[in-house]
Amino acid sequence: MTLRFRNTLGGALEPFQPLEPGHVRVYSCGPTVYAPAHIGNFRSFIFADLLRRYLAWKGYAVTWVMNITDVDDKIIRDATAQGISIAELTERHTATFIDDMRRLRVTIPDQMPRATAHIAEMAGLIGTLLQKGHAYRTDDGSIFFRIASWPGYGRLARLDPDRQRVGERVEADEYSKDDVRDFALWKGPRVGEPSWSTAVGEGRPGWHIECSAMSMCYLGPSFDIHTGGIDLVFPHHEDEIAQSEAATGQPFVRTWLHCAHLQMGGQKMAKRSGNFARPEDIYATGASPRALRYALLAAHYRASLEFSDESLAAAATTVERLSTLLSTLDGYRQGGDDDVTLPVLLSSARDAFEASLDDDLNISPALGAVFELVRELNRRIAARTLSSADAARAATLLRDLDTVLAVAEEDREDLPAAVATLLDERAAARIGRDWARADALRQELARAGVLVEDTRDGQRWRRQEAVRDEV
Ligand SMILES: [Zn+2]
Repeated sequence: MTLRFRNTLGGALEPFQPLEPGHVRVYSCGPTVYAPAHIGNFRSFIFADLLRRYLAWKGYAVTWVMNITDVDDKIIRDATAQGISIAELTERHTATFIDDMRRLRVTIPDQMPRATAHIAEMAGLIGTLLQKGHAYRTDDGSIFFRIASWPGYGRLARLDPDRQRVGERVEADEYSKDDVRDFALWKGPRVGEPSWSTAVGEGRPGWHIECSAMSMCYLGPSFDIHTGGIDLVFPHHEDEIAQSEAATGQPFVRTWLHCAHLQMGGQKMAKRSGNFARPEDIYATGASPRALRYALLAAHYRASLEFSDESLAAAATTVERLSTLLSTLDGYRQGGDDDVTLPVLLSSARDAFEASLDDDLNISPALGAVFELVRELNRRIAARTLSSADAARAATLLRDLDTVLAVAEEDREDLPAAVATLLDERAAARIGRDWARADALRQELARAGVLVEDTRDGQRWRRQEAVRDEV
């Protein structure tokens, strides 16, 4: 089967082939750490995680880099307003971000470079652009990219060449540039702003240059895949291409993938408009991180997705169905012959899952294949046509597919500490063959909403989701 992606650059569905056979290099634009990220941001990071997990499932080695923007106008504004240093503000929100990522089971990228730790690389890139005539200085010590020097500008966003820049993070007083389309690579020093002394002078970097400098620093001048939210296509990614390719003379990124917006109440989720929810807000309603992950994962990444109480409740029901089945399969005991039709059922579910995700990560039919399998297995469990070995084979396949989805089983770290302790005590009681104590602890855990099964590999447990009655 061939993996194909819809490349934003050109818009075609293209077969995927990494530059280095067997190894995929991926860069994702990360958060600006001035406030906790909202679930709309996490939709885009969960999409990048699906990509990363699926590539690994397909057998590729993956190097994944995500930047942390830890200097920009909003960070400076908020640190000043709160009377704390920029480092204190950004360290706090970086820690929250990584914690949110872990709870949502987003694989932690191989590298998470901070912009402030790569100022020299950015200055080096800007120096090259000045040398090659693609950038110019203004009186206040700022440096701009000269778009007129780069005829390929606008290919990614398919811009009308005469179109002016809109929605850019441009300050009103950046009047001294030669062309309204030109963007800041470097901002001259200002009172009350952080500033670095570099080979291109005193000041701080513009936003766009950090992603070019850090992606090429860790992945080389040309790499395979760049992801981000759809709102980053223009100008951020258009600018990344221009400044990177103008500096290196090489193609920057082969495949651009962009995730559509998350909507809530029919409107785009955005901090600016106040229409947003953070993961914490969702957990406060009793939903689990894996239900939230499922709700954010379950639509195609290029389609806009409406988030609601109903979609979250449906997600909780769905992940509960999967964990209940796994738990049932783990505890299932039946002698006699194997079910001769099971191997075909399992392999066709696996094939359908792969064929769907190969098609530009088309998640809906992939989930359809998983839940069709769930229904079919539940039927066979009820009819007791499976042998114990069949049940183990089915559980192995489901857990294999779940290395891509990461929703099936509860994380131990999501349990309250007291409950985790009960699990440890019960494991110890079993080892000590104190069955009465193990039984008492099982009941205590059940009252805390945690169901325990004993299997050949020791105890397995799952937390019951707060699930509404099925409609
Ligand atoms: Zn970026």
